[in-house]
Amino acid sequence: MRDERILKTISKICEIWGGDFWIEFIESPLALMRNWKKRGAIIVHLTMYGIPINQALRNINLEKDVLIIVGGEKVPIEYYYESDYNIAIGNQPHSEVAALAIFLDRITNGTWEYLKFQNAKLVIIPSEKGKKVLQING
Ligand code: SAM
Repeated sequence: MRDERILKTISKICEIWGGDFWIEFIESPLALMRNWKKRGAIIVHLTMYGIPINQALRNINLEKDVLIIVGGEKVPIEYYYESDYNIAIGNQPHSEVAALAIFLDRITNGTWEYLKFQNAKLVIIPSEKGKKVLQING
């Protein structure tokens, strides 16, 4: 089912806070996965049934493009076989957002923290208490 609201939400957030995140609804995620594979990308499927992340990361070539798959409803078995790596962020079920966040943190060695999104209209000034926000770019 297409959730059109998510399109609006993402574009509104990018407009205010910057960044170039986008959403595409696709008919066949498996076809997308196979196309990426053909182009030489590494396919990582996050699943609690997979190999523990610390062990798996020793073998992954992060110089290549990485397509990360996170499930919602029950994930069909083909994804487990078509993926190059089935990786577990702990072998217990938890939030897909948490799984993705931890994976991204590990593969970037935490450097995501220093990324600045381009074209932001609002920028947060870190403060111990309260909220400090700077308005830029009109
Ligand atoms: N009910 C779904 C199923 O049976 O496949 C799983 C739901 S789970 C809450 C949603 C997604 O979060 C999973 O498909 C997986 O991508 C991710 N996920 C949840 N726990 C995980 C874990 N321990 N390690 C890695 N990924 C995990």
